[in-house]
Amino acid sequence: MTPQPSTSAACSKPLSDTASVLQLDDVRYRWPGRASFGLHVPDLSLAQAETILLLGESGSGKSTLLSLICGTIIADTGRISVSGTDIAALSAGQRDRFRAEQIGLIFQQFNLLPFANVQDNILLPLKFAPERRNRVTDPNTQAAQLCNDLGLPTGVMSAKAGTLSVGQQQRVAAARALIGMPPLIIADEPTSSLDAATQATFLDLLFAQSRAHGTTVLMVSHDARLSDQFDRVIHMADVAQTVRDAA
Ligand code: ADP
Ligand code: MG
Repeated sequence: MTPQPSTSAACSKPLSDTASVLQLDDVRYRWPGRASFGLHVPDLSLAQAETILLLGESGSGKSTLLSLICGTIIADTGRISVSGTDIAALSAGQRDRFRAEQIGLIFQQFNLLPFANVQDNILLPLKFAPERRNRVTDPNTQAAQLCNDLGLPTGVMSAKAGTLSVGQQQRVAAARALIGMPPLIIADEPTSSLDAATQATFLDLLFAQSRAHGTTVLMVSHDARLSDQFDRVIHMADVAQTVRDAA
């Protein structure tokens, strides 16, 4: 990651000409039965190895945009391609597998399996993604290494995820996103439950993976103070039009 001058921020185009990992063209979405909120993203692209911070006020549609990119919801119109694949053209099953292969996901609510242990939670994406699995020589060692990097105690691997503190769960969710080096990491407010030191460690790890493996990182936060650490800052208001009145 090379910090860029802030004049380059708030732009919908990548700073480099490298192949785009993510491209949104004229995407529109309304939550079913919710005429009061609509999202329109005319043109947004993210390049390989770019680190992008997405800022925007609460309710501006950041999480909705991430769900569209992940293919957990499908745009009403327009096209979203991830690594050149039009995600709407895949069947639901193909999309689940594609997501597991291509995207390391950190949700706002972590989405860990509470009754499974930490190791199984971290290794979960590899079960559905053979290519991602093949990038890891020894999954158990890799999972333990990520935990160690993120400052989780050694004994935590066998603990049930639901018994951990919120901050520890967030780190497990981060390890699960990083394992197997997916080309795109998408993180929805991943540092909100971390103390300052752990937040710095987590971001360092994320950027190190981006540099070492060309991973693109798209992270949502409400904390504009993180801006300097990213290659590019995108403001929701600049890339998306939202409709919030009755329609
Ligand atoms: P942000 O992440 O920027 O706070 P969201 O994408 O969560 O914004 O929400 C944008 C709008 O979409 C809000 O009006 C919210 O109520 C609505 N919304 C979000 N998730 C759902 C959902 N699962 N079903 C219906 N409406 C939703
Ligand atoms: Mg949100």
